[in-house]
Amino acid sequence: MPDSLQFSWQLLIEDTELDGATLVVDYVPAVITCRACGAETTLEMAIMLCPHCDCADVTLVSGEEFQITSIDRVHEVC
Ligand SMILES: [Zn+2]
Repeated sequence: MPDSLQFSWQLLIEDTELDGATLVVDYVPAVITCRACGAETTLEMAIMLCPHCDCADVTLVSGEEFQITSIDRVHEVC
C-alpha cells in the first residue's frame, strides 16, 4: 500500500506545477480487538487474525484512516 501510494503520487504530479513535490506519509498501525478473547493487538502484518487464540473474528479498531492532514506549498520566486 505505501509503495503504490508513492507511485500514484508521482504519476499524479508529473508534468504539473506540483512536479517535484514530496509526499510525506505518517503510518498508523492497525489495531484489532478479538471478539472471542477480547485481546487488543497491534498488527505487524496485515493479517486479520488474533495472535492469542487464532480467531479471525476480530474488529479493526484503528489503522483504516486515510487522511490528508496538510498540504504545504512553497512558492518559488523567479
Ligand atoms: Zn483472540
